[in-house]
Amino acid sequence: MSKSYPGDVPVHALRSVDLDIKQGDYIAIEGPSGSGKSTLLNQITLLDIPTTGSYQIRGTDMAGRSDNFRAEVRSAQFAFIFQSFHLLAGRTVLENVALGSLYRGLRMSQREDAAVEALQFVGLGEKLDKRTENLSGGERQRVAIARAIASGTPVIVADEPTGNLDTVSGRQVMETLERLNEGGSTLVVVTHDKEVAARAKRRLWVQDGKVTEVDVGSAASQLPPQKLQTSPMTRGRDSRIRFIDAILDAWRGMWAFPRKTVALIMAVALGVGLGLTTLGLSQTARFQVSDLFDAQRNQRVALSSPELEPGTFVDAEATAEVSLQRLRDLRGVESAQVYVMHDEKPVTSRPGVSLELVRGSPIVGVVGGELFAAGVDTGSGDGQSEAQSTQMDSELSRLVAVGSGDVVLGSQLASSLEIGPLLASPTVWVDGHPRRVVGILTDSGLQVGLLEALITSEEDAAQISRPSYANAEVRVLPGAAKQVAEQGPLAWIPSAPELVTVDAPPDPSTMREVIETNMGTMLAVLTGVALLAAVLSLTNAMTTAVLQRTGEFGLRRAIGARRIHIRSLVLTEALFIGAAGGLLGAYLSLLVILAVTIVQSWQPVISPLAIPTGVLGGILVGLLGGLIATGRAARIEPHDALRV
Ligand code: ADP
Ligand code: MG
Repeated sequence: MSKSYPGDVPVHALRSVDLDIKQGDYIAIEGPSGSGKSTLLNQITLLDIPTTGSYQIRGTDMAGRSDNFRAEVRSAQFAFIFQSFHLLAGRTVLENVALGSLYRGLRMSQREDAAVEALQFVGLGEKLDKRTENLSGGERQRVAIARAIASGTPVIVADEPTGNLDTVSGRQVMETLERLNEGGSTLVVVTHDKEVAARAKRRLWVQDGKVTEVDVGSAASQLPPQKLQTSPMTRGRDSRIRFIDAILDAWRGMWAFPRKTVALIMAVALGVGLGLTTLGLSQTARFQVSDLFDAQRNQRVALSSPELEPGTFVDAEATAEVSLQRLRDLRGVESAQVYVMHDEKPVTSRPGVSLELVRGSPIVGVVGGELFAAGVDTGSGDGQSEAQSTQMDSELSRLVAVGSGDVVLGSQLASSLEIGPLLASPTVWVDGHPRRVVGILTDSGLQVGLLEALITSEEDAAQISRPSYANAEVRVLPGAAKQVAEQGPLAWIPSAPELVTVDAPPDPSTMREVIETNMGTMLAVLTGVALLAAVLSLTNAMTTAVLQRTGEFGLRRAIGARRIHIRSLVLTEALFIGAAGGLLGAYLSLLVILAVTIVQSWQPVISPLAIPTGVLGGILVGLLGGLIATGRAARIEPHDALRV
């Protein structure tokens, strides 16, 4: 077979290699650095595919085989030992060794029994629970050998196993490997150590991709190949993993680096928490808005007449009592009032004042001689005085009869006139005509202009001043505003309803809907942004983590994991992180919502679904955030990942 690596200058790493390895062989591979030794091992162990040529294992051709098939064969046939150990950091010695048979579909207890046995074989029976970072190089390599033993495969392949070790540890490692060969395992070792190579039964020399067999005389090669001895306990099925083991493996993998995992969980928790908080607050706040809206539902319809020309139909209708009565008779009308605005006239508190020097005041006539107002001081002290109110409900609730010759002064006008106490029935002069003040308007509700005006009955006003236009102020029952706004103009001024300007609140139900929809959309966007941020940060962090674990995934693939196994592993971790983050985020959001509602003294609206929603959201975030990392991990090629 041959192997070339494509590139600008293709590397012919192996040139027409012809090799036959028998069971029980002990082969040493020597050669200068970069000559193709590792490439040869990758070919032997199916970690890589030859460019040309054929390769048979136990009579089965390996050419054109699927990825999964090759994973199966690797799982069944080969165990690996590397110069840089490739142990899983953050995991115990026992876990690392049990990993050797993880992809053989064996029960955990079987795998651990085999691992303990293997560790005793390599002399590490006392260090089962140590983390591999705390071991010496020699000990680590013996853990790797134990992992190879525990995998129960007939062939052990070691790529410069003593390269990182001192002489004594190196010798120990080689002795252990040779004992395995004596037990029947096939041993293929790449080494720079002449002493080591000299003990092998066969020696291969690799140079510039060419492999030659070094003659080692007859002694070693005459040893009959031994029967394969793998204990039935560790046979299992090839390239399979038990579901529970996969879950447990992911769980342990997560906690190998607790700080990193906690950071990932926090990232998800923040995103989900933020999302749930905006969602929860939106429900709470929506409730508030609706409530507010219902409390202040607008029950006022204001109609304005066009400019009034005396003697016209419009003038007559706008100022007539029958028109006012028609408005009051409309369905849904609680009360109605027509104010007629007249040209300004001078108002004085003393007679005989030169009127040219007095600024005019607005004159308002109330049709029917009845004034409805929120607050009128009549000076009678009967409880109607200072009838102040801030609530809409009692607006226009005070009725004052304004008889012939009576006026009510707007509070601003009254104070500028400096009139005496109401009990003394003060008089004012309107354009020289005396009038009795029967009340002072202190609160005109929405008709703010009235506070500067002099209010009389419309009959009186018409005699003093020319009308300019009229306003009809209608108070309606809840929900009737729309209808009254439609029917009001015709009822009030039948000859020219189209000239009436209507100021009605938007339909409460539509308005409420609009507000709710707007808020809902806004908060949905906020929630989406929060979740997107969580997904992106998780994607980023998980992809980085996967790249840092390239060696681990390479090793897993080498010992028989299929791509799908790697995919599941990373995805399971992401789901765990997502679920944990979601749960945490849900609790965080509940706390925040509670805090906000307490501060705002709102009624908290907390859904019992918050927690499951949080977990589900977290899982979704985990799924999406882990997707890219999962793909990355699954694409890792073992021969690339394990080169270091
Ligand atoms: P050795 O193990 O004997 O030191 P290798 O088998 O690792 O040598 O490499 C043989 C040659 O192939 C070297 O020139 C190396 O740079 C090249 N090579 C190995 N792996 C790759 C690869 N994945 N892509 C491109 N070139 C590679
Ligand atoms: Mg090498």
